[in-house]
Amino acid sequence: MQEQAPHAAETGPRPSILLVTLDTTRADAIGPEASGVETPNFDALAARGLRFRQAYATVPETLPSHASMMTGLYPAGHSVHENARYLSADHPVLAERLGRAGYRTAAFVSSFVLARRFGLARGFAVYDDDLPAGQAERSARATTDHALALLERERGSRLFLWVHYFDPHAPYAAPEPFRSRYASQPYLGEVAAMDEQLGRLVLAFERQAEGPRAIAVVSDHGEGLGDHGESQHGNLVYQATMRVPLVLVGPGVAPGVSDTPVSTRRVFHTILDWAGLGGSDSLRGPGREVVLGEAMRPFLSYGWQPQVMAVEGRRKAILAGRLEAYDVVDDPAETRDLGPEAALSRPLRTALREYPVPSLRPASPADGLGEEERRQLASLGYVSAGAQPIVRKEAPRPADMAWLFPVLDEASTLFVREEYARAIPLLERIRSADPWNLDAALRLATAHSALGHERQALALFERAGEIAPGSQDVKTYLALHYARGKGWPRAVPLLEQIVAEAPDRLPAVEALARVREWQGRKEEAIALWQQVHASRKPSPAELVHLGELAMGAGRTAVALESFENARAALGHAFRNDLELGVLYLAGRRIAEARAALDRVPPSHPGYPMALFKRAQVSVLLGEPDQAARIEVARRRADATTRELIARERLFQAAR
Ligand SMILES: [Zn+2]
Repeated sequence: MQEQAPHAAETGPRPSILLVTLDTTRADAIGPEASGVETPNFDALAARGLRFRQAYATVPETLPSHASMMTGLYPAGHSVHENARYLSADHPVLAERLGRAGYRTAAFVSSFVLARRFGLARGFAVYDDDLPAGQAERSARATTDHALALLERERGSRLFLWVHYFDPHAPYAAPEPFRSRYASQPYLGEVAAMDEQLGRLVLAFERQAEGPRAIAVVSDHGEGLGDHGESQHGNLVYQATMRVPLVLVGPGVAPGVSDTPVSTRRVFHTILDWAGLGGSDSLRGPGREVVLGEAMRPFLSYGWQPQVMAVEGRRKAILAGRLEAYDVVDDPAETRDLGPEAALSRPLRTALREYPVPSLRPASPADGLGEEERRQLASLGYVSAGAQPIVRKEAPRPADMAWLFPVLDEASTLFVREEYARAIPLLERIRSADPWNLDAALRLATAHSALGHERQALALFERAGEIAPGSQDVKTYLALHYARGKGWPRAVPLLEQIVAEAPDRLPAVEALARVREWQGRKEEAIALWQQVHASRKPSPAELVHLGELAMGAGRTAVALESFENARAALGHAFRNDLELGVLYLAGRRIAEARAALDRVPPSHPGYPMALFKRAQVSVLLGEPDQAARIEVARRRADATTRELIARERLFQAAR
């Protein structure tokens, strides 16, 4: 390994820093050693930087892997083991630290999986998760366009810029010319297309920043592509999904290649080091470690064996029910299990054995550790949630269940698309093969619930509760089931409990907001909708809904803000100018009331009211045509406004 004095750069000015994360990019699919694909821009960075040949993701899943890079912690430390969870505000993140140190911070992400609502936006002055309407991802080209616009605006400032590309994630559909060029290997076509955008980004970054610059390019996990029976990622911890590309270019980093195994969580420490905020665990220093990794989704979702891996030197061990061991240098495909007799060091064995398995039960402050103990463990990269995990003795090993992955993937796809009738037979197949599979029981229950099959749904929720007593997921989906129909009062205590314990469970917060409306508890409903809108981007229809709700409750400021946000999103399709006019008038913001009322079209059913309000505005502003406006309002009046006009004192005075 090429080593530098770890603090060589600290005397110089602090660099602008670019972090690029390449989703779903295998270590052998990019860079100078990749075959069958050309990635000249990554290669150019590798040529002038330090390339790690043994870099490992902490989890083969997008959100938890990124959470590790942003916190420096293993998932056992930051508690995000799966997608669709929330990174708690308890853990300091890179953007906060750099922001406080005077950096301008900005992030551009390309997948819904990393949307603001999942907690990674904290500390970023700009967090652009703006995806095309109705889509869950955007192309590297679109994301790069947005990032380049920021680089143009921020010319000369000291930046911490994070850009995330999602293209190599399934489905593989590269743009031309890569689609044709890689017709037989569409996955590699996506990687090549992404590399082109990486080139644009790096060029623009190096032009924008003054003074020193630092760049880290890393993947969040790889892709199975059939290795060990896994086509995508998330279920296993073999090299295909755990080993990732990692290149560092910047102050104090001599070009070269390192074969020392490292964890991508140390991207956190490396960036702090570059920024002059502390150098421990920086990849600029030597820091040998036992590298750890996990894939807990099969455990948390299906009840299979928890899976942990550890790498030291050329030895890799996987613990999932039993121990596997490999020599990843001689046998990178992990085809020859060296078995329990393999020569594994004591630190590696200890790290594997002591790695904390997450609990299915939510951690409550009561079963947490003491603050000091927590801090100590956290400094090692992990901390136990405290609650005892329940692992069934006869739980299957994920590697032995690979034959079921295609069925799980297909059922999941159909379920997410809400094609419940088609998902049900697949979910039944999973349940008969794997009766303790919590995810299948819950999805089946939810599918039956959505189709109105009350009896089947309740039986399956009961079964799910037996599989995972006290599970937050079971409670959440059961509550959503009740909230869907006549049984909604039964949802109330469940929803109250979930929202109190886990306010990041947005579907539960939304359901409780609707329930509060049905109960006529408007103030609480408004507060809950505001909570939802703060966590994710609301649709224009949701903004209008909140505006109407707030107007009905006399909450003028909230109503105005919601309607104005809806107007900004809808443009000419906005239909609530009358409400805006009324609200502004009530708030004595007369000029804004006039502008809003002037936008109400004659075709609007409330047009007589708009004319009446507009005439009031005219009088209040002392407009010369006020008499004519009163006259028009009177002529076009309906039953409601006729009364109002007759009683309006402003009009009597104006006469
Ligand atoms: Zn990913």
